[in-house]
Amino acid sequence: MTRRGRLPTKPFDKKTVPGKLKMSRASYGHDSPMTTPSSEIPTRDLVATNRFGTFFGVTQQVLDRVFDQLSDPAGNSVVYITMEIGADRDVYHPIKSWLAGRAPDAEQDEATRGFMTDFLAGPEKIPLYGGGLGILAGDTLKSFADCRIPVAAVSLLYRHGYFSQLVDMNIGQVAWSKEWAPEQTPGLYLLKDPQDQSRPLVIEVPLFDRAGSKITAHAHLWMKMEVSSQLDSFVPELLLDYDLPATPAWIREASHHLYDSSSETTKAIQRRLLGAGVQPAMQAVGFTARTLHLNEQHGVVVVLALIDELLRQRLGKRYQEKATSQDILAAARMAAERVVYTIHTPVKAGHDRFSRTIYQELGSPFFTRLLDLLAHDEENPAVYNFTAFAMRLNRATNSVSRLHKEVTRKQFPQYADKITAVTNGVHHLTWISDAKATAYDTAPELFGWRYDPSAFANAKALLVDAGFRTSFAEASAQDTAQLIGYINRMLIQHRNQRLETWIDPPNYLSYLGEKEGRLDPTAFTFGFARRFSTYKRADLIFEDLDRLAGLLIANQWPVNFVFAGKAHPADEPGKGLIKNILNLQDELYHKSNGLARLVFVPGYDMAIAKMMVAGCHAWLNSPKRPLEASGTSGMKAAMNGVPNVSIMDGWWVEGYHEGQTGWKFGYEAPVAEEQFSEHPSALLYAEDSASFYEVLPEILGTFYDPARRERYLDKCIMNLALNCPVFNTHRMIAEYLLRYRLNLPDQQERQMQKFRRLYCSDPEACF
Ligand SMILES: *Cc1c(COP(=O)(O)O)cnc(C)c1O
Repeated sequence: MTRRGRLPTKPFDKKTVPGKLKMSRASYGHDSPMTTPSSEIPTRDLVATNRFGTFFGVTQQVLDRVFDQLSDPAGNSVVYITMEIGADRDVYHPIKSWLAGRAPDAEQDEATRGFMTDFLAGPEKIPLYGGGLGILAGDTLKSFADCRIPVAAVSLLYRHGYFSQLVDMNIGQVAWSKEWAPEQTPGLYLLKDPQDQSRPLVIEVPLFDRAGSKITAHAHLWMKMEVSSQLDSFVPELLLDYDLPATPAWIREASHHLYDSSSETTKAIQRRLLGAGVQPAMQAVGFTARTLHLNEQHGVVVVLALIDELLRQRLGKRYQEKATSQDILAAARMAAERVVYTIHTPVKAGHDRFSRTIYQELGSPFFTRLLDLLAHDEENPAVYNFTAFAMRLNRATNSVSRLHKEVTRKQFPQYADKITAVTNGVHHLTWISDAKATAYDTAPELFGWRYDPSAFANAKALLVDAGFRTSFAEASAQDTAQLIGYINRMLIQHRNQRLETWIDPPNYLSYLGEKEGRLDPTAFTFGFARRFSTYKRADLIFEDLDRLAGLLIANQWPVNFVFAGKAHPADEPGKGLIKNILNLQDELYHKSNGLARLVFVPGYDMAIAKMMVAGCHAWLNSPKRPLEASGTSGMKAAMNGVPNVSIMDGWWVEGYHEGQTGWKFGYEAPVAEEQFSEHPSALLYAEDSASFYEVLPEILGTFYDPARRERYLDKCIMNLALNCPVFNTHRMIAEYLLRYRLNLPDQQERQMQKFRRLYCSDPEACF
């Protein structure tokens, strides 16, 4: 049954299944007549054409079916609106894995061969994400595809992507802009004009210039397909590219960089480009989704277009003059019935507020009137508050964990009743390492896990399975060797380049000789990787270096600390935290007599994340409670059986099971208003770091004491049993489906119910 991280040639071979397994338990999605085992598809059948172009990766039947569903006149589908999507091909791509596992096809034609060559040789990364929000979007869309839920996504194509990170010992983070060419990126397709296939499709997006008169922005539409693991479905992502000569220069510029915050106006324009582009994009391809899912409030101005349309229908041509406030509010209530909104953070910087003057320069007088009624800020009359706007205009508001629900209800008491929780998840196929996947394949208890992550609920039996324990431990050692090998090669490279480039290597170890300046793969390795932002307190555990070092020396415990992450270029305190981590390395090394080695890995992206979450021995999370709404990197670690060591915040309140899945530390109290402050004086460094030093001997003792080492392995396996079945995006979308009100075929509905039976994020909203 071993499959080494590739698509199996068949979903699974029923004949090889040990007799004790009940077939019904793990069969998921394979009884369906629509599911073609991928081994039976000749490569040439993976080229499909419709009036928007020719695409590689799905069959004609699948392409037509998905477009038909998304064009259903009843609108039985969803459009998912998001500023960013993270789905790098080097980390996960079903077509790539499928091609890599195949011998060349005799009957391949020229065109197919061209697609295949491009696909395997092209750039691996599409820099259209900044961090957690985008990766969550990518993971979510992959699960929609795997479960064949009719969803399309709309986002923006940024010609300069998100910034790349260099790190210099003396300067800290250096941001630079990497050019990328969508034209040369396989798997991204410029949609063609159905009327004239020699030209790209151009859509017109109505906007307003600074004098308030109407202008039009032109955009191309790129399509990326998030293809299902069995190549039997996909989610189309429509990416709006405004960088066309016909679009005014100030708009083109604002579209270049994801999260450009060079001015408030640029930021406001970006948000509008997303929201205002949704309807024109959907109409141009004929998609009819009735339900709109806002992944954060960024795209909320789409609702203005819905209200505008409703008023035009009701009041006729001169609706803007005729509409009373009552009419507008009634239309807003109708529009809201179509919107599902997910709020992702309790932190103020995550909530867009724009000064009225800026916005009034970018909108028509009528839009200003709508915003005055719907987007007013209750505390500050000079701004529009887009979080409040989104909060008012939806039929379901979701927070991203149970604790975050309480926080959001406290922050928005007037909407408390409609705020529910859907705890985030991760796409398990994306984040489980190849070595772990191979180990999971050997366990009959996990049978079918690739297609049905609820199979992990049977993992508890593996605690007493000596064979599995060995396979798992070997896989872990392989993952650790891969991570530490990568870091050691990086340290050598930086050491060698020291005199050749202007960058001073960011790690103290690169300044030591090759023998001392490296990490030992047998040392306990903590991983920490996330956005560097004040409330995440990256340097918390280094608050008292003497105490930390003393503890390690007393027990002669070597420890690696592997850190990574970007700070937003405009976030000075965040960049200061990175600098602080660099500055600590030397002192920590010496105080601990070389036992503690702290390394910073520059350029955090999905590939580094995957290596880290699988290769560490514990995943560290030290935010100030309750400001981490969910967090997802810890779930990725759990998918690989890696225990978390975390503040009781975000998802960990749900993922922590005393003595079983990992460790907790830090302040823990009922949620109260006064804890929401991010002020340096309110960050509880002293209290929470002291609490960390108290659990540290327990963690390292479990790992290093030969008599207790098996208890460490138990914790890994209990992560598979308790956290894998829950914190995956298949379960998460099953819960979202309750908010979407889609009609699904019975068989799919049953699959979704199965996921929901295993877990319910919000007992008040499970029905
Ligand atoms: C998972 C991931 C994140 C988000 O991690 P959090 O724990 O939610 O902060 C950010 N960046 C990358 C590259 C990731 O893979």
